[in-house]
Amino acid sequence: MRGFTKLVDEDFGWKDPKAAEHAGMPMMDYVIGGMDRSFKRKLFRALLAAEAAGLSPGITSAFRDDYRQSIASGLKAASDRSYHGGSSRGGYGHGMAADIVSTKGDNRAQRWVSTEALWKWVDANGKALGIGRPYLDRDPPHVGPIDGQEYISRRGIADGKVAAHVKSRKVRTAAHARPPKAQAARVQKSSAKSQKSAQTASKRAT
Ligand SMILES: [Zn+2]
Repeated sequence: MRGFTKLVDEDFGWKDPKAAEHAGMPMMDYVIGGMDRSFKRKLFRALLAAEAAGLSPGITSAFRDDYRQSIASGLKAASDRSYHGGSSRGGYGHGMAADIVSTKGDNRAQRWVSTEALWKWVDANGKALGIGRPYLDRDPPHVGPIDGQEYISRRGIADGKVAAHVKSRKVRTAAHARPPKAQAARVQKSSAKSQKSAQTASKRAT
């Protein structure tokens, strides 16, 4: 796992060390040790398989506690609700998400191209290894276990045994289904504002 945890972006530059210090533990124990054990094994196998396929996966973010989530940038959920390990999801030892990119390329543009190839590889091969991207293009680096609550709530049950045409219909339905929170806001109909904020929240669920 450590091999894949490269210094990919500015987040690892200071945020994880700071959060680890805040939690009183070494950074690798914090970032990797905070993940759910079974998810960690699946992720590790998937990244090894990606590497065997000629890709160069790296992890930009794995476990994040409430404090780390509060200083995260980009797409993120409320501090305690992140599947990266927010306290309402179980906290340390229960991180069920990681953000992955490719480290291949001499500059940002090249790394972007190889990173998109990595994500496509995950979409094509990850399910067999138990890993998927619950938000697809809405939060592309974010991966989690396909039998996890977050993935199922976005993409449905990804059962490899289900016939391909049934599965694609199921996935499509799941993708278009509104999350429960947005539905609730719709029922209220009291204000368009609450509907909008629920939709925004559903977009920032990681
Ligand atoms: Zn994420």
